[in-house]
Amino acid sequence: MIDLRSDTLTRPTEPMLEAMMRAETGDDVYGEDPTVNELEAYSAKITGKAAALYTTSGTQSNLLALLSHCQRGDEYIAGQDAHSYQFEGGGAAVLGGIQPYTLQFNERGELPLEALKQAVKPDDFHYAITRLVCLENTQAGKVLGLTYLNLFAQMMANLNLKSHLDGARVFNAAIAQKVPVATLCNPFDTISICLSKGLGCPVGSILVGDEETIHRARRLRKMLGGGMRQAGIIAASGLYALRNNINKLAQDHEKAKKVYDKSTEFKSLSFAAAPETNMLFLAQKVDADVLNLYLAKHGIKVSGRRWVFHLDISDADVDYLLDICSQFDRLVDPLI
Ligand SMILES: *Cc1c(COP(=O)(O)O)cnc(C)c1O
Repeated sequence: MIDLRSDTLTRPTEPMLEAMMRAETGDDVYGEDPTVNELEAYSAKITGKAAALYTTSGTQSNLLALLSHCQRGDEYIAGQDAHSYQFEGGGAAVLGGIQPYTLQFNERGELPLEALKQAVKPDDFHYAITRLVCLENTQAGKVLGLTYLNLFAQMMANLNLKSHLDGARVFNAAIAQKVPVATLCNPFDTISICLSKGLGCPVGSILVGDEETIHRARRLRKMLGGGMRQAGIIAASGLYALRNNINKLAQDHEKAKKVYDKSTEFKSLSFAAAPETNMLFLAQKVDADVLNLYLAKHGIKVSGRRWVFHLDISDADVDYLLDICSQFDRLVDPLI
């Protein structure tokens, strides 16, 4: 089975499991789990932030950021297709009374700065109070440019707004741009990072930011039932991943690139754009239903038009995938 539906599908490797088995633990609700403390300190250090909080999921760490920055009646601005707005159960509205206001991402995965400026509400009691702007990096596999990020940060400072990055895959962005992850975190007040995606952990995310915001988030995490006790067992997988798996993301990007490059030889298969990181999206003209059925028959799972490459996709898997695509191409060629 080759599962390209998501990079969440990675399973822990032997050495990761061994690190988990050997983890020193304590009660993290008492602040006494040395492995969790080490993971939080290490995460803060490499992202260039003062503090970090280990969370159950990316959804939880995004929610904690929103709840920490905003009060009831405040507004946050996010992309129309942003994970935090579309795919997190409306948590900010349900649990925080925080109103979302959405803008379209442009083709580079940015919120256009002019539109952003227009969206910020004036100090007038007819409006909710604009408090926070959320970006995503990577956004649908695309990497936000450094120039854009700097202009964004300047604008946030000028408008006196807070900023949060849904950096579920921010390490993919850092590796693709060959910059330290701290450079990509610097423009934001808080950043949420998934350990359970390309980095290969079975569970867990990290929220990083300043001491005060993370202190609030820690209180809220407890309130949401996210106070975990001997969490060092799972936190050890996070430490292992941050020390061993970041550079491996480059291989996922190469796998996606290899498939993209080869696809240009096929008549029946084309992708919307060359991959910037680990994701490919089928072009609109491809009949994904027919292709996906053929792939499924040959043990390959994809999710709609999205193909995601990750640690559990070997080089041999990529070759097999290309072989099946080539067979499909020969089959349908007379029909095109
Ligand atoms: C996966 C993902 C999340 C949340 O992750 P969970 O750990 O599944 O809650 C947040 N944002 C983006 C962009 C994601 O891809």
